[in-house]
Amino acid sequence: MGPIGLVDGRIIDLSEKIVEMEDRGYQFGDGVYEVTRIYNGRPFALRPHIDRLYRSLRELKIPGVYTFDELAAFHDRLIKESGLTSAAVYLQITRGVAPRTHGFPETTVPRLTMSIRPAKTNTELQQSGAKGVYVPDERWLRCDIKSINLLGNILAKQASKEAGAFEAVQIRGSIITEGSSSNFFVVKDGALWTHPISNLILCGITRTLVIEKIAPRLGLPVIEKEFDQSFAFKADELFLTGTTTEIMPLVQMDRDKVGDGKPGPVTRKLIEAYDAMIANECGAK
Ligand code: PMP
Repeated sequence: MGPIGLVDGRIIDLSEKIVEMEDRGYQFGDGVYEVTRIYNGRPFALRPHIDRLYRSLRELKIPGVYTFDELAAFHDRLIKESGLTSAAVYLQITRGVAPRTHGFPETTVPRLTMSIRPAKTNTELQQSGAKGVYVPDERWLRCDIKSINLLGNILAKQASKEAGAFEAVQIRGSIITEGSSSNFFVVKDGALWTHPISNLILCGITRTLVIEKIAPRLGLPVIEKEFDQSFAFKADELFLTGTTTEIMPLVQMDRDKVGDGKPGPVTRKLIEAYDAMIANECGAK
């Protein structure tokens, strides 16, 4: 069986041609998305992902249509039908199909499409640590909305790929905002620093788990404040957070080693605590 998906509640083969030319997601990128990680056949942190989906929809005035229970059931169906236990579920809602004109159509029926793909754990890279590069943040000013418009993000990711790096860390003005598909943290003198929640970053679910659940448990203070590249240069440790990234130590930024060039003790403790949280919610990693 090839990869499968789900369109408005119906299971499909991903090779089926289902996108209509006048879907506003296709024509304008007029839609939002979420990615949820599946561990041991169970979704991790599904509730906050769906809450964030509703927020993105509200910000774009796209009707919600599906309840939490319906969306949770769709996740379960995809997991069951695919037989996958370690996977990522992609969920997208566009404003729907209408004759192409910029303004919102009078009546739209939002279109839900989902897919499931295998995902592997990042254990090896978490042990060696990853490389990052700095790039200018060229995105729009509503990075808090998880919009399917990702041109700025994909250009940044491509630049990091071409540099042989794992992630592009974006800089707006002189301020470090976030990765192209992750949030960015500095560890300095035992405290965690990260960009505050604003229109300039996505409020990452993993970021929130680290700040609200893991850091307090480990007695780590968190400072949500803007900082620049010279501050990050003096960091003891750097790491990224994200649903598929999990917690990833950065051991090199551009040509500079971070600390001694190995994942630091604070990041290693965070990874351990995050894995324990997954095991607690999903039974195993
Ligand atoms: N920032 C951006 C731009 C992202 O695409 C992601 C990945 N969703 C994140 C941060 C991390 O968010 P989360 O922890 O919810 O995956």
